Amino acid sequence: MTHPLYPHLLEPITLGSGPDALTLRNRVVMGSMHTGLEDHPWDIDKLAAFFEERARGGVGLIITGGYAPTKRGWLKPFASEMTNRLHAKRHERVTGPVHEAGGAIALQVLHAGRYGYHPLSQSASDKKSPITPFRPSAMSTKEVDHTATAFAKSVALARKAGYDAVEIMGSEGYLINQFLASRTNDRDDQWGGSAARRMHFPVEVVRRSRELVGDDFPIVYRISLLDLVEGGQTWEETAELALHLQAAGVTVFNTGIGWHEARVPTIITQVPRGAWRSYTARLKQVVDVPVCASNRINTPELAEDILASGEADLVSMARPLLADAAFVAKAMDERADEINTCIACNQACLDHVFANQRASCLVNPRACHETELVLMPTLRKQTVAVVGAGPAGLAAATSAAERGFEVTLFEKSAWLGGQFRLAMAVPGKEDFADTLRYFTRRLEVLGVDVRLGAEATAGDLAGFDQVVVATGVEPRMPDIPGIDHASVASYAEVLSGAVVPGRRVAVIGAGGIGVDVSVFLTHTDEDLDDWMAHWGVGDPALTEGGLTEPKPRTPAREVTLVQRKTTPIGISLGKTSGWAHRAVLKQSKVTQVSGATYDRIDDDGLHVTVDGVARVIEVDTVVVCAGQDSVRGLYDGLDRDAYLIGGADIAAELDAKRAIKQGTEVVAGL
Ligand code: NAP
Ligand code: SF4
Repeated sequence: MTHPLYPHLLEPITLGSGPDALTLRNRVVMGSMHTGLEDHPWDIDKLAAFFEERARGGVGLIITGGYAPTKRGWLKPFASEMTNRLHAKRHERVTGPVHEAGGAIALQVLHAGRYGYHPLSQSASDKKSPITPFRPSAMSTKEVDHTATAFAKSVALARKAGYDAVEIMGSEGYLINQFLASRTNDRDDQWGGSAARRMHFPVEVVRRSRELVGDDFPIVYRISLLDLVEGGQTWEETAELALHLQAAGVTVFNTGIGWHEARVPTIITQVPRGAWRSYTARLKQVVDVPVCASNRINTPELAEDILASGEADLVSMARPLLADAAFVAKAMDERADEINTCIACNQACLDHVFANQRASCLVNPRACHETELVLMPTLRKQTVAVVGAGPAGLAAATSAAERGFEVTLFEKSAWLGGQFRLAMAVPGKEDFADTLRYFTRRLEVLGVDVRLGAEATAGDLAGFDQVVVATGVEPRMPDIPGIDHASVASYAEVLSGAVVPGRRVAVIGAGGIGVDVSVFLTHTDEDLDDWMAHWGVGDPALTEGGLTEPKPRTPAREVTLVQRKTTPIGISLGKTSGWAHRAVLKQSKVTQVSGATYDRIDDDGLHVTVDGVARVIEVDTVVVCAGQDSVRGLYDGLDRDAYLIGGADIAAELDAKRAIKQGTEVVAGL
């Protein structure tokens, strides 16, 4: 039966034909994402539980993280590989539970090439990547030949392990891209030289894979639509490659945007939703097999729109399925307002993986911890009071209600969200509103007694069995002469709109919030075309890799961002997103001052001393982003046991990731 809201998204599709043809129950693909669980044999059951929960949540096809076809193709030392029968046998512990849950799963085969974080890495040439410290060795002609065969053997092993399909990773700048682009392939044997010869390697990988697994086993190929690096492929080359790959046996094209070393953000919050859909549509004009759209798609509405407009046949979402395992089931039940939406922050997923930690999710700390962080139904009918409705309090209240406790949530202000609410005002962080929508709806569904405008007292809490205090933080106002001057405002006053700063602004403190406030102050409205132009994204039909000269921004204000440290500004920001935030500061002509001592604030502006030289930064407004202090008067005054969580517990690490995790964990242990 056709679904009333998502008729295209929830329609089945058959990939391939013959006995191995794969019918998916819907068009939602959980895209590949390395979680860290792939790298240790002893984590295989945790990995299985992670996928099984997503299969139960209704997703059409799951694609695993990347598995190397050879040791030299590892992502890091001793990383995941699919190279022998033992590996295949072990993976039956993944494919079995997914199938029992009604799902389908594909193994991704990925050779890291010069992105391998180890001294054995190999590539088309010995050109080092800008994002790894190891120089790869250039493969010999024979080694390339062996590697193409190794890919095919991994594909065959995946089939043996019970996988329903494979994905060959041909995007994001990994080995296959390194063969395709003149940037990294300067070979003069049959695997390099002309554009046609640079295509030889991926085509051979697919041809040999098809030969080993027969005509019908679905082979997904993730193709790079836009390299976003100098010396990347042109559209003409990409289209030609797609046709060769199709002829060699590709069943479906998944799509990727940008190499990891690209200096254009492709998936973080500040990238407009659905930014890359038109490139997928372009590929669909070229090939006959189905095409899957990906990158910055995080709602069923957007996914449906892409399919309904004929731009793709499937939609891949990796992080959104981390954020909510039941994404598809909720869409199916017409409960999309209950989806815990991925806010594209990267803070707990990619930032963890790049720091060699297990991935999780800021808004869903159970992700990749399904067997460890369990919210068991309670056998005790207890009452729980949660004080404070910032991320920590919201996570605690909803988790407690989910366990079956009777929960009352006290919030002093008239709204939910605490400091997290302020983030929504930052340009490019509008998605954060979805987290509050999710929690608001969850409180309703779970029947939590929410008391807004209610400042809880010790007396109010006396009758509760359990008390969780999440009273949060308040902005720190540092002890600088003149801090009471009329020109001074806190970041909270500015982001909430209570204070509108003048044209020239100094920002004190260059942590995450100082950078966000600088972006807020300089931002002018931009549509998708402006965004592309500011980042220098052009037409790949006209330029290699689709890069063009970035168009300068016209900042709304003159901003000077000041810190006491002498380290580069913004160095503490997330590994996978900090560089993009720092780039926006540059594009917006924000003046950066490090190593400052604050002398005073007066009618002339902010007086500082830098390198022993006193100077005045002439501004109309000084915005203070100097961190936060915990608010814990209530907790300190309680003469009963209570749990203290979130910023009220540790303000120095005020952080929604930690707050939501702590709120969930405390309640899981009640
Ligand atoms: P923060 O990262 O701790 O930065 C506050 C800055 O204020 C410090 O780096 C410090 O720099 C300065 N400062 C501290 N005490 C001061 C004082 N007494 N006088 C003058 N300057 C002082 O805090 P935040 O920017 O408020 O961010 C809070 C949290 O939110 C962070 O931990 C982060 O996890 C999260 N966040 C992250 C992002 C992101 O990643 N994009 C964005 C927003 C928020 P100096 O000592 O060098 O002056
Ligand atoms: Fe999405 Fe952030 Fe969760 Fe990653 S950590 S899945 S980006 S919400």
